Amino acid sequence: MKEARRSGDEVFSPSIVRVSLGSAILLGLTRGRLNAEPTTIYLLTYRRGRCTANCGFCPQARDSTARSDMLSRVVWPPFPTVEVVERIGKAFGDRRIRRVCIQSLNVPGILEEIISLARIIRLTSPVPISVSCQPLRREGMIRLREAGVNRVSVALDASTPKIFDEVKGVSAGGPYTWEGHVEALRGAVEVFGRGSVTTHLIIGLGETEEEAVRTMQLCHDMGVYPALFAFTPIPGTKLAGRPRPPIEGYRRIQVAQYLITHGLAKYADMTFKDGVLKDFGVERSLLLRIVESGEPFMTSGCPGCNRPYYNERPSGPIYNYPKKPTLDEVREIKRQLSIH
Ligand code: SF4
Repeated sequence: MKEARRSGDEVFSPSIVRVSLGSAILLGLTRGRLNAEPTTIYLLTYRRGRCTANCGFCPQARDSTARSDMLSRVVWPPFPTVEVVERIGKAFGDRRIRRVCIQSLNVPGILEEIISLARIIRLTSPVPISVSCQPLRREGMIRLREAGVNRVSVALDASTPKIFDEVKGVSAGGPYTWEGHVEALRGAVEVFGRGSVTTHLIIGLGETEEEAVRTMQLCHDMGVYPALFAFTPIPGTKLAGRPRPPIEGYRRIQVAQYLITHGLAKYADMTFKDGVLKDFGVERSLLLRIVESGEPFMTSGCPGCNRPYYNERPSGPIYNYPKKPTLDEVREIKRQLSIH
């Protein structure tokens, strides 16, 4: 395999790529038991060092002392790219997967590395490709699109500019600004189109439910799909001591996300008291129907992304269901939402 082009003083080779453990098991690269099969193959660009950014929740952050092969609570062992790509082509042909997601660190030359990886995947398969990356300029987004990337995600992670600054911005010793991320999302929508851009929102960073819902509406209005993540404390990260979000509040935010992204209600229709979501602004019969469908509680993100156990242990509590919740699980969800 050829090396990627030269950028600055370094030459980057996409000959090795990290693969999330669940994806690696599904592709047959390693052995293991899967409680739920991933419907997307998650790849992480391979570097020996850490990310140059310093997000307080991330094991890859510059100042983190967590294992360097982790992202969220998932382990990402490295494999030869050729083997990974061949197996992705076969798994997509066999309809075992619906998407590939390339997650990247903020390191010099990363755009060239992502482009090389996307091109190699595209040579062997028409599988839809998402890229989750730092804010890029418009030219970088266009190059991703030309390399065969179908969707881009730029993660806001935080629901307010203040929390953003504290957990991943200047106050956290990072390179990012809220305005820069919003601008990059707008640029991504111009290049990829409305509905083909994602952002990640982590619930449990200190925001109120109202702030989270307001930001989801902002994203939706911009043509950006907000994918929900539950904050997961990882030993060795700056926010390791912070608790997970309460499941009841997370469920309310999932319902609001579903209503907003399906055009069934808006933030302005909903009622909040002291930041807590009290009324979804829809008829009770509709609310009951969507809650009982179980869909709002399934992993949200790019089409086909189910991130099994990215935020939770299989023993629970399950914040994002990687497959449709069972009747028993829906009963439990209704109890959490106090809906009878
Ligand atoms: S929503 Fe899923 S597929 Fe899309 S960028 Fe995020 S992790 Fe990747």
